[in-house]
Amino acid sequence: MSQTTIFDELESQVRSYCRNWPVTLATAAGSTVTTEDGTEYLDFFAGAGVMNYGHNDPDLTEALVDYLRSGAVVHSLDLHTVAKREFLTSFRDHVLRPRNLDHKVMFPGPTGTNSVESALKLARKVTGRQHILSFTNAFHGMTLGSLSVTGNSMKRQGAGLPLTNTSKIPYDNYFEGATEDFLWLERVLADSGSGVDLPAAIIVETVQGEGGLNVARPEWLRALADLCKAHEILLIVDDVQAGVGRTGTYFSFEEAGIVPDIVCLSKALSGYGLPLALTLIRPELDQWEPGEHNGTFRGHNPAFVTGAAALKKFWADDAFQLEVRERAAELHEGLEKIASGYPDAVVKGRGLLAGIEFPDKGAATRIAASAFGKGLLVETSGPENEVLKTMPPLTITSGELQRGLGILREAAAEVFGR
Ligand SMILES: *Cc1c(COP(=O)(O)O)cnc(C)c1O
Repeated sequence: MSQTTIFDELESQVRSYCRNWPVTLATAAGSTVTTEDGTEYLDFFAGAGVMNYGHNDPDLTEALVDYLRSGAVVHSLDLHTVAKREFLTSFRDHVLRPRNLDHKVMFPGPTGTNSVESALKLARKVTGRQHILSFTNAFHGMTLGSLSVTGNSMKRQGAGLPLTNTSKIPYDNYFEGATEDFLWLERVLADSGSGVDLPAAIIVETVQGEGGLNVARPEWLRALADLCKAHEILLIVDDVQAGVGRTGTYFSFEEAGIVPDIVCLSKALSGYGLPLALTLIRPELDQWEPGEHNGTFRGHNPAFVTGAAALKKFWADDAFQLEVRERAAELHEGLEKIASGYPDAVVKGRGLLAGIEFPDKGAATRIAASAFGKGLLVETSGPENEVLKTMPPLTITSGELQRGLGILREAAAEVFGR
């Protein structure tokens, strides 16, 4: 009898990733996950950007186990705890201060969409405006507010009601250079007869992780930030997937030199795969009433413990960031080599969030399936899953990276019959 019977029998049709990878995982270490029957997979997926420091980092495991064994408090709503103090202190010392950021830290519920919801709510409250602008092919989460700023039509339809008070505007290079950046937006915001209401905020991903690895250029992001400032529109950067080192710096917007009004973080924040999210808020915008955005799991002590340990281990100096940038250069070089074998295949993405778009829209799915058969977990991205998306742990070794690229090369050759 198949060991996956109970999942098919009992679990809702809504399950998704497990359909492509119908195995039962048992253990994991670093960049490798192992099924219950002992088959090893190299992980170029990393929990969609959760496992930035690899699976079960021994130092984080030790911090977590020590904490649990000590009898320390696990759940505490938003009460002060030793673990929360440690996390906030580490976050201030290793993330905010070195980057001259004076944002306040808000803990919403423990997932990315909770952070996005809090950002949208706060932007509307502070500005007194309802409208939010977001970008073509954006992904911001699956609750109603987040869906209203998300692009994907299948996901939007799941809402079952009209997603209102938002509009989509073209992301960088949506018109492939045919239209000047922000031409339309600048005009309509300056024109009191345009009929376009001044938005409360614009929410943006610097790299569209789910939307097809589209990358916003630093100059485009700076122009966006300037436009927001000129019209007193709040700029929200959703760094849930691209943040926490994924692009080679802690925040993905550092390269552009912009300072967002609000920042959303989650996925890799706890460093260990434990749910944790936060929303960074410029101090003058922190106009919440106590309890106005509440939740039972706002900050979870075990996640604070591993989160603080990860900050101390990886972010106390530049060494880790420099290594990530080296790995990223290797990844891009390897992807370019593969893409160069296929006409019109292009490498997309930034840092260790990169992939290949093939003109044959079904190719990425077939390559990912073939790679799975060869022991590599890799997913696809984009509105038609047309982009092969690699997202290894940031701690992956050079050797593992090359091995994964080798599998992708073979898988592509197999799919294209070469
Ligand atoms: C994953 C993701 C979210 C949603 O996070 P959840 O934890 O799944 O709610 C929001 N924004 C971006 C950019 C994401 O990648």
